[in-house]
Amino acid sequence: MRNIWEARKRISSIVSKTPLIGSSILSEKIGRPVYLKLENVHEVGAFKVRGAANKIVSLSEEEKNRGVATFSTGNHGLAVAYVAKKLGIEATICISNRVPHAKVDSLRRLGASIEIVGEDQDTAGERCYQLEAEKGLTVIQPFDDPYVIAGQGTIGLELMEEIPNLTDVVVPLSGGGLLSGIGLTLKSIEHDIRVTGVSMEHSAVMYESLKAGKPVKLNECETLADSLLGGIGLDNQYTFQLVQKYMDDLVLIPENEIAYSMAFMMDKHRMIMEGAAATGVAAVLGNSIPHQNGSIAIIISGQNVDLSVLSKLTENYLLDNND
Ligand SMILES: *Cc1c(COP(=O)(O)O)cnc(C)c1O
Repeated sequence: MRNIWEARKRISSIVSKTPLIGSSILSEKIGRPVYLKLENVHEVGAFKVRGAANKIVSLSEEEKNRGVATFSTGNHGLAVAYVAKKLGIEATICISNRVPHAKVDSLRRLGASIEIVGEDQDTAGERCYQLEAEKGLTVIQPFDDPYVIAGQGTIGLELMEEIPNLTDVVVPLSGGGLLSGIGLTLKSIEHDIRVTGVSMEHSAVMYESLKAGKPVKLNECETLADSLLGGIGLDNQYTFQLVQKYMDDLVLIPENEIAYSMAFMMDKHRMIMEGAAATGVAAVLGNSIPHQNGSIAIIISGQNVDLSVLSKLTENYLLDNND
């Protein structure tokens, strides 16, 4: 827990506290207070700036001088580039060519060197470690690192301070850094809070790994929740165990419900969120959160989605809900 408080102090000059808003439309739908934690409003459009900042600020001067590298489905790469730029450190980002154009453009704007390699995150990861060996760059892990986990955990502190009678937190889940950090923080303070993880139905690597009792590898499928793609690492050291320990429930969301939730939030809340973030909304809309009486917080984890994707699913939503 001390790590989380230290992380908050360490990142405070780079990362601002995010807004929390009540959602009357979701509250009415399920008959309990629902709050949205707006991690989409960070300048880079996702929460990952918290973990990246905590890790990079903690590096030695020598490591900072040599530069940092990472591989990522996009948001972690953006976060690393953003933090590195703020601190005047060189960043190299290795990504697969599945990553949406909007994210690649944003990376370029942040001044990072970009290497596009292969079809999946694992190939990008291999290239990244090659750079570490060849050039002495420090690889910033997207989730399986205590500093990254502690950085994401600062969200838990903000939730505790602001939400009365918080009983459920709904957290989009991929590698598990976000859920580990929030789960550890909340349950250290208030043991009874339930933590529900949410992933897309296909390529849910953490789900399959938990079922198998050890980290497994899966092929990546096309999904609207592209930020939730990627393996958890066969040699996972931290997040697999932490998710086992701190997650009470895991909900899988089909693609059509992710699409509906994205359009629903745009229609009813005038809010843009990417597929990964919309899984949490879908879990609440689908009444998948076990019934209790207290408040639910949904982590709106990011907003980086191509406009073309958004316009297509909005069109379908309007056709289907034309009453
Ligand atoms: C990375 C990411 C997640 C999942 O975080 P993990 O720590 O990998 O579980 C969820 N939503 C968005 C928008 C992300 O970028």
